[in-house]
Amino acid sequence: MDHFDYRDGELYAEDLPVQEIASAVGTPFYCYSSATLIRHYKAFSDAMSGLDAKIYYAVKANSNVALVRLLAKQGAGADIVSGGELAIAQAAGVAPDNVVFSGVGKKREEMRAGLDAGIGQFNVESEAELEALSEVASGMGATAHIGIRLNPDVDAKTHAKITTGKAENKFGVSWPRARELYARAAELPGIKIKAVAVHIGSQITTLEPYELAYRRLLEMVDVLEQDGHDIGTLDLGGGLGIPYGAETPPTPAEYGEVVRRVFGKTNKKLGFEPGRVIVGNAGIVVSSLVYNKQSEDRRFVIIDAAMNDLIRPTLYDAKHDLVPVRLTNGPHSNADVVGPICESGDTFARNCELPELGEGELIAIRSAGAYGAVMASTYNARPMAPEVLVHGNSFSVIRKRKTIEDLIADDTIPDWLK
Ligand SMILES: *Cc1c(COP(=O)(O)O)cnc(C)c1O
Repeated sequence: MDHFDYRDGELYAEDLPVQEIASAVGTPFYCYSSATLIRHYKAFSDAMSGLDAKIYYAVKANSNVALVRLLAKQGAGADIVSGGELAIAQAAGVAPDNVVFSGVGKKREEMRAGLDAGIGQFNVESEAELEALSEVASGMGATAHIGIRLNPDVDAKTHAKITTGKAENKFGVSWPRARELYARAAELPGIKIKAVAVHIGSQITTLEPYELAYRRLLEMVDVLEQDGHDIGTLDLGGGLGIPYGAETPPTPAEYGEVVRRVFGKTNKKLGFEPGRVIVGNAGIVVSSLVYNKQSEDRRFVIIDAAMNDLIRPTLYDAKHDLVPVRLTNGPHSNADVVGPICESGDTFARNCELPELGEGELIAIRSAGAYGAVMASTYNARPMAPEVLVHGNSFSVIRKRKTIEDLIADDTIPDWLK
């Protein structure tokens, strides 16, 4: 459920007509609903009620400081994957203790920044990283509290580019090497073992892969405890899918039932790292129709949003719902909705049923809150679109539109070319 609904045939974001925001900020833009964000966060935390659970919002899904702030105020911690995201979590006011640092390629300066900030947990993904973290931490006289991310070799049954828990993926430490790595961690200076972590992928739409991975995890924790390690926390990752169109992913409550079934009898602290399920359906991209174009056998609707604003359709073959901001009773037909970028991949939908719309009319791309703005680029010299956050009947620009002057100012002509 989200708060983008029609009233009298017009799309609203909460209590604000989307058209009104478009008139104020121009198109394209990202539009987020704070009530939806809070609702989704609450649905997830309610699903874990009664468990000793902590939710670390996966900042990479949408790292706007205002959004991270909003979620931090609901009680969320932050799951980060770079020094940049650490700075964002700090700017958003996330308590350092509520930060988990994930990622396969943390550089030493990023580790140092995390230790300086006093973050709660590093999720280590390789032996080399473990050695580096020990070196950095002991050099600073600090202690890194760690989990080791294990790769349970489970097929999350999602798109190949976002499955992360199979043996062939770059993530985590392979199951057979887990004991050896924990043993090494136990003897390294500057390292304190705290957790075991798994994260098997993203946009997961069935519960079986979770249950499989979590049962394997529990068996491993037994083994590690027999080896003498003190595992207080199980970090269960993120990845719960959302409905983009026809998908029917499990609800957070149903996911919570699996968690209860597997971990109900353990006395461990549980950590969760949801990203998409919190923000995905809390955002839309609003665009204007630039041209209608009819070829022999195809209707094209060319809009002013493009793959640089939302790369998911071309990167993940994702199908986002496209809807007119103003409903009409006029004739509908199927159209290919495309952006202006010079790539055939710059296509948002094929054979999408839309009413006949005129130039300048607004089309909203739904479910664009996660992995939208954060993956934007300036390809085709398109300055980054602004982000707005709606709160009841008002909105705030939480990232302003970049200008072409901003882009050009970043480039330098060398002296010898002047
Ligand atoms: C990306 C990521 C997440 C969040 O994934 P979602 O599908 O957005 O929930 C959580 N944990 C880790 C380690 C990640 O890399």
